[in-house]
Parts: sequence; structure tokens; C-alpha cells
Amino acid sequence: MTDLNKLISLIQIPSKISIISHRNPDGDAIGSSLALYKILLKMTHSPKVIFPSEYPAFYKWMPELDKVIIADLDLKGAHEWIEKSDLIFCLDFNSLDRVDNLSECITFAKGKKVLIDHHQDMVPFADFIYSKVEASSTAEMVYDWIEMIKKLHFIDRDISNSLLTGIITDTGSFKYNVNPRVFNVVSDLLKREADYDNVQTRIYNSQSQKQLDLLGHCIANRMKLLEGKDASIIYLSKADFKDFQIGRGDTEGIVNYPLTVEKIKFSTFVTDQSNIIKFSFRSKGNIPVNELARDFFNGGGHINAAGGYMHTSLNKAMTKLEKVIPPFMKKYN
Ligand code: 5GP
Ligand code: MN
Repeated sequence: MTDLNKLISLIQIPSKISIISHRNPDGDAIGSSLALYKILLKMTHSPKVIFPSEYPAFYKWMPELDKVIIADLDLKGAHEWIEKSDLIFCLDFNSLDRVDNLSECITFAKGKKVLIDHHQDMVPFADFIYSKVEASSTAEMVYDWIEMIKKLHFIDRDISNSLLTGIITDTGSFKYNVNPRVFNVVSDLLKREADYDNVQTRIYNSQSQKQLDLLGHCIANRMKLLEGKDASIIYLSKADFKDFQIGRGDTEGIVNYPLTVEKIKFSTFVTDQSNIIKFSFRSKGNIPVNELARDFFNGGGHINAAGGYMHTSLNKAMTKLEKVIPPFMKKYN
């Protein structure tokens, strides 16, 4: 952490604070933000969580989530809060293009910016930077930050559950991104009464029949294996979105299923959304999907989980994927 002592002295004074995370917030974005929110409340600050866009409905149970500002629904409210903030925490994103409708406002805001994030290729836009690519999740880093400022005793059951949600989602329930430290953090969260079984059930066993039907459709009708059968693409068209009435969060996790096949080392999930083609990439082992995302799809992320986008048609996106993936895979065989 740069200038930790200066930041510690800054947060002694009660302040207006914005906590911002990335567009399409996932469990880590939401969990780390809500945990930090409640810690700051207990420190008598006036914090507000702001997300650029809505969160998936299956996170609705999370404590205090109803109090966040969604900039897509209330851009003026979001901008006003950011402009009057003394401190602006940016969580779980590495550059301002991940918060599109808020990026300009954050750039010109007078408040000091604090970045807490675990993505690679961090753009140093903040005044205080805590960046750690080895961390499992931003939630793990928020826990570490709470420890640094000596406020672990403020972690109650709600905060434990929020941090646990972030860690569980970003590690796929401890299947990847783990490190020795994260198990110590989780052990402490369980001592602080995190509801482990309940959080697992909320995240992984709470989907609708429609989502399971959609998964079946993806595997049976929308999955393409590329030459060598070690890479797959699952695609969903605009018509699929309509037929299955796909809403926010309904496609979460589909990209991971092809990797359950031993031979498949690389999985792509591509969707035709209004005016944008979105890509999710996942891999096993040493295949750096963040490089593919960065080099060809305006994106980035982590070694084994990345994403990107293109303004084009689904057909053209598929042609591009089929052209760039095979040579990429050959490099790592
Ligand atoms: P997902 O596939 O779950 O949407 O995203 C996986 C990871 O890829 C995210 O945690 C994030 O690091 C990265 N990612 C997804 N979409 C984008 C994007 O459009 N730009 C960048 N730079 N990274 C992305
Ligand atoms: Mn994360």
C-alpha cells in the first residue's frame, strides 16, 4: 500500500465517502463494497456504495444492498455523491474504463482516490494504491486493509458474509485463485460467525429452472469445439435472449462448464447483447486468457478468467474467435 500512514490519518476524520465498483458487479465487487461500507459506517463516516449498472437479482439477499446507488438508474445522484466525497474508494477494477458512466466524474472529483484491486495491468489513477495480483479477490484485500487499520473487531456477521461472498465467487468456491492466506482469512470470518452453508447455497444452489434449461440449451445446441477439441465456444444470439427471457445474472457461470471436460483447456462464452458483443474467457493452467482478451477483444482480466467486448455482429465475432483461438492455443501446447 502506498502511503498507508497518510491514509490512516485521513480516515480518522469523519468524511463523506464513495465506494465504487465496476459495471455488471459480481459477487466480489458487491461483497467487498458492502463490507467496506459497513466498516466505514462503524467508523462514523458517511459512506455510499455506487455501481455503474445493476447487480444480478440472486445477490438481493446481501445486507445493505438496497442502499446502493445504481448510476444507470440515477446518474445525477451518483455524480452528486462522488463530487461531494472527501474519499473515493475504487474496488475490484484496474482502470477507469471499467466504470464507464462514472469515469469522467471520478477523474475530476476533488476527493482523494483509493484503489483496492487484484487485477493485472493496473492503471495508476488513484492517490493511494493497494494492488495485489496474487490476492484471491478484492474481498480478501479489504479484509487485509481492515486489519491494517486495526479494525478487525468491527467485523460482524454481515461483514463476514459479504467478504465470504466475494472470496467464494472469485475462487469458484475455492477451486482456483487460492493462496495460503485466503484460508486464514476465511477461518477468521467463520470465527466471526459467517454463515458458510447459507452463503454457498445462496450463490450456487439458488438458480431458477429457466437457468438450468438455458445451460442445457448452451451445452446441447450452442457449443462449438475448435480443432484439437481443446477449446470451446458457447454463443447466444439475440433470439436466444428473447426465447429464454434471459435477464441479468442468468448466464453467470455457464462459461465454466466446458472446462469440466478433461481435454478442454479454454472456454469462451459470447453473447449478442444490445449493440455490443460480450466475451467471457476461462482457462486451465498456464493459458493466459487475459492476453487474448487484451490483444483481440478490448478487454483484460486475470490469467484464467478474462473478458472483453466488440461492437460488431455475432457472426463476425465468431469468425474472429475461430481465427485467433487456434494459433493462441498452439503457443501453449
Ligand atoms: P466475466 O467473464 O465474469 O464477465 O469477467 C471475468 C473477468 O474478466 C473479470 O473479473 C474482469 O477482470 C475481466 N473482464 C471482463 N470483462 C472485461 C472488459 O470488458 N474489460 C476488461 N479490461 N476486463 C474485463
Ligand atoms: Mn474480483
